[in-house]
Amino acid sequence: MQVNEGIHRLTQGVTNFYLIEELGKYTVVDAGTPGDWAYFASSLGGLGAKLADVDAVLLTHAHPDHTGFAERARSEAGAQVWIHRADERAARTGQTGKRDGKITSYLFRAAFYRTTISLMRRGGGRMIPIVEVSTFSDGEQIDVPGRPRAVHAPGHTPGSAALLFESHGALVTGDVLATENALTGRVGPQIMPDGLNEDGAQALASLDALLGIDADLILPGHGDPWTEGVAEAVRRAKAAGRS
Ligand SMILES: [Zn+2]
Repeated sequence: MQVNEGIHRLTQGVTNFYLIEELGKYTVVDAGTPGDWAYFASSLGGLGAKLADVDAVLLTHAHPDHTGFAERARSEAGAQVWIHRADERAARTGQTGKRDGKITSYLFRAAFYRTTISLMRRGGGRMIPIVEVSTFSDGEQIDVPGRPRAVHAPGHTPGSAALLFESHGALVTGDVLATENALTGRVGPQIMPDGLNEDGAQALASLDALLGIDADLILPGHGDPWTEGVAEAVRRAKAAGRS
């Protein structure tokens, strides 16, 4: 589960979240689904860490398979929860925006059922509102362990952002860029399917925000890590287009 020095990838299927360690303190990027809490706590324990060592939960966007146990981490572990300011309202209220594509267009895909069943079983169908949320803006270096820089790339949601952990050589892309399609099953760099995007055209255009970033490792919200560089990932995602 260690993907790079000081970075661990956690997943119980469909969605990934990441633990970034610096001097014994932790930032969690995304919070899985609500049902991933016990797995999260035991993973921390496996690293010799405690819940109290988690300083921050950074959210790449406000969707229930990423905000997951964030409120519980805030109230029980005392972690500060962060999100881009354009998704703050959604995170506080649990209300997400309208989707660009119809979910019914994916009904004949096996991946659609795998994703839906896996997420529903872990409470990923509904967002748990987060009582207190701090916000970041595009380009901001966030003062949490790992000191990531926010790269705003709207489309999937208005506040979707990637987070660059420069000293770790890692770009956590959330749902700005995935390497596996949760609804069609297609593998490779791509934006999310329109059935999950608020604005698919904008999501595709926002890939340009990633260009020029130097990172050995792309860590997506869905799919395996990507090691062939940011430029190549963006090129392939643009070629793949919308789904
Ligand atoms: Zn997602």
